[in-house]
Amino acid sequence: MKILVVNAGSSSLKYQLFDMPQGTVLAKGNCERIGIDGIITHKRPGQSDFKAESSFPDHQTAILYVLKMLTDKTYGVIDSVDEILGVGHRFAHGGEKLRQSTVLGDEELEYLESIVGLNPLHGPPAISGLRACKEVLPNVKHVGVFDTSYYSEMEDYAYIYPIPYELYEKYKIRRYGFHGTSHRYVANKAMELMGKKDVKIITCHLGNGSSITATVNGKAVDTSMGFTPQDGVPMGTRSGALDPTVPTFIMKTEKLTAEETEKLLNNKSGLLGVSGVSSDCRDIVDAANEGNQRAQLAIKILVHNVKKIIGSYVAEMNGVDAVVFTAGIGENDRELREAICKDMSYLGIEIDEKINATCPRGEIADISASDAKVKTFVIPTNEEYMIAYDTQNLAK
Ligand code: ADP
Repeated sequence: MKILVVNAGSSSLKYQLFDMPQGTVLAKGNCERIGIDGIITHKRPGQSDFKAESSFPDHQTAILYVLKMLTDKTYGVIDSVDEILGVGHRFAHGGEKLRQSTVLGDEELEYLESIVGLNPLHGPPAISGLRACKEVLPNVKHVGVFDTSYYSEMEDYAYIYPIPYELYEKYKIRRYGFHGTSHRYVANKAMELMGKKDVKIITCHLGNGSSITATVNGKAVDTSMGFTPQDGVPMGTRSGALDPTVPTFIMKTEKLTAEETEKLLNNKSGLLGVSGVSSDCRDIVDAANEGNQRAQLAIKILVHNVKKIIGSYVAEMNGVDAVVFTAGIGENDRELREAICKDMSYLGIEIDEKINATCPRGEIADISASDAKVKTFVIPTNEEYMIAYDTQNLAK
């Protein structure tokens, strides 16, 4: 069964064609500079990439080009678009109503449009992408997979903020949580590795955006991102959690508008803001190794905050059976994993430094010390597979 996975951004449209249930990727690529000019990169495993300039005035022309590529005599991987049985669309936000992956009909589309205010950056392009795909592939099921839905079963005391309750009722201000598709994927893999479901897992998705999630018996009970992806641990350019009066103090003293303050906290803070070097962890590690003290400080702040959240989730769950590292930093930065897991033996978290330092990149690894009470895994994330998996189940 061929399933197309689409992730539409404001000027890009990423795609992967899966053969399910095996989960084999037949082709993948990215249409960039939509609305400006247009470039497509189309890849097939084991074969040379195809790259071309084109004109993509909108998402619809881009998806039409993708379908042309997928069925192309030379670069294609299927004979006809009729082979595609479902399209999975990545949505960052499903609001309070879309609590699980769902076939997107008119009613769901209307709801997604009604909540773009909660998700102004990702919502509109994802909806344009969906509309475009529905237009060109009208006879297949279009499934929405939402980053927020993994958190839809959290208890109210974990998602309601201690502000006047009417603000929740009026504007739906609450913790939603993000990166749920990634956390769900790696938590499921950890359960598979442990051979049981009744386990307590802390998944650390540390990438350009970072979040940490606590999962009990396969259900998320808490997560570090909140009303927006701005909350939680410091990220490439996002501050993460702050004393709530910091933004208003900056606004008043620096005479900034609300939008300017949001930009400062979203685009100029986090690892970039502290180090002044870069938002990319590799650059910061290099600078820190060369003696740059602010780069060293940025790393220490990140480690400190990740540890704090892990500790709080152990308290919340009354224990932990596994800690998982995933995403760009979590999968690749051995020193950072070691620093985070250092001095956590009280909680039962201990890693084998040698295994941690030598485990091959891109593969699942058990980096726990042999006598550690808690398992520590490195598990490469695969959100696209998770989207294809849900889509195949709903498109059948
Ligand atoms: P995104 O949130 O954009 O999907 P990724 O999960 O790709 O981000 O993570 C990007 C981050 O991973 C960057 O900060 C990058 O520096 C970091 N990263 C990637 N490879 C390495 C590596 N080998 N060592 C340290 N950090 C790495």
